[in-house]
Amino acid sequence: MEKILISRCLLGEPVRYDAKSKALNHQIIRHWQQQQRLVPICPEVIGGLPTPRPPAELNQRLNKVLTESGDDKTAEFASGANQALALCQKHQIKYALLKERSPSCGSTFIYDGSFKQQLISGQGITTALLRKHGIAVYSEETIEQLINVLSQEI
Ligand code: SF4
Repeated sequence: MEKILISRCLLGEPVRYDAKSKALNHQIIRHWQQQQRLVPICPEVIGGLPTPRPPAELNQRLNKVLTESGDDKTAEFASGANQALALCQKHQIKYALLKERSPSCGSTFIYDGSFKQQLISGQGITTALLRKHGIAVYSEETIEQLINVLSQEI
């Protein structure tokens, strides 16, 4: 059975920058948990960042992840992405369900780096690396697509 990498905050774990979670209340999550097919990760925490932590955004022009005060967190974000990829390779994971709009986990939209709540089309650091290695990344907003894809694999 295909395993699925999943953002820990979507499982209700308080790992976000503000020490809160974003639990995804969907019955398929409980089903997948019972099947033991979910592999949780928070790329930012595993990359070495504390919780809570200052919010950071991807600055595409500089190709860096910065906090609003300009602290460069690119190395921690890259480490988290590499560890997420290693986990996928260890478990032969081909699908990920990651939190939308995060500078790590976003898959369709991210904030533009201005810290003015401006969304742009784009993907987070972890999502970009996983996709580069052939892993399909979905979010809480595209979970029905993932369910559909998985149903065709069974
Ligand atoms: Fe959730 Fe991903 Fe942010 Fe961790 S890095 S809190 S898993 S969105």
